[in-house]
Amino acid sequence: MPKKKPDSENQSEGMTKSLFVRCRYCGQKNGVRENYVNGEANCGKCKLPLSNEPHKKFADLGKHEYIHPADSKALAALKAIPGIDTALKKLLSVTGESAIRVIFTASAVRVTPKQCPDLHAKLQIACTTLGVDMPDMFVQQNPVVNAFTGGVEKPIIVLHSALIERLNDEETLAVIAHEVGHIHAEHVLYLTAAKLMELLANVSVARLLPGSEIIKFIVSAGISSALLAWARRAELSCDRAALLVTQDPHVIGRTMMKLAGGTFASKIDYEEFLEQGREFKKTYDAKALDRFWADIITAGLSHPFPIWRVAEVLEWVESGQYQDLMNKK
Ligand SMILES: [Zn+2]
Ligand SMILES: [Zn+2]
Repeated sequence: MPKKKPDSENQSEGMTKSLFVRCRYCGQKNGVRENYVNGEANCGKCKLPLSNEPHKKFADLGKHEYIHPADSKALAALKAIPGIDTALKKLLSVTGESAIRVIFTASAVRVTPKQCPDLHAKLQIACTTLGVDMPDMFVQQNPVVNAFTGGVEKPIIVLHSALIERLNDEETLAVIAHEVGHIHAEHVLYLTAAKLMELLANVSVARLLPGSEIIKFIVSAGISSALLAWARRAELSCDRAALLVTQDPHVIGRTMMKLAGGTFASKIDYEEFLEQGREFKKTYDAKALDRFWADIITAGLSHPFPIWRVAEVLEWVESGQYQDLMNKK
């Protein structure tokens, strides 16, 4: 038997206006009880904490307004390599952009307004906040807590199942917003190529591919190391994009903490984690880290580097640049 709607909803606007809260993120109207306080319930559509505090949507955000300088610098170095765009486009045409789409359509759940509607709502929130056309998004069964964006002409976002299982709704929004950030920042061509290079770091796989001549060229021209060095730094820009969507640095911080430490039962102290980030930043050596990363990639390990990333996000907030963007009309 369908449950009778609560009185607060039947009385609707005009009479008792305060009995509704319009979700700050997705705009959904949520009926609430009389002495409701912000944050005590979750929105019925996007599942994010319900609040009528304003949420900024950026009308015309330019990527250069938030791109991390390390990203721009590494990208400039990458673009200075003669013939790089042609080589990368050729690599992608050999390995096949459409293959990426086929693989995920065949093996992962596609998120729609009816399929995982709260994830779809979160994608919509990230896209409307940053001003990006909605890409397709998939959820794939995978125990590694991760997400990625691939494709060039028509990018797609893939969320691993473990990610959604481990993160809360705000943290999931942060990850989706980070991926949408890659599209907004026009990272997708290089990002997809970097992803391929990581896969091809396993030489025996590379030899099997028809594009091995191009791969040889890319490796010999120093494209692959420049590409991978850039890809690490591109993450920093997209963490900023994620912050522009969640509009709470601590949501980013907590997401990184989970990426770093997992979600085991022992109490992880968030303040201690931030301190670890600040300590790391003090002794940070970009060159040494690049060498370290090269080894990690060669070893085929996953590499979110959350401590470094949280330190960078905090520094951006402390610099005042984030607040300047938020205050922009
Ligand atoms: Zn909502
Ligand atoms: Zn990323």
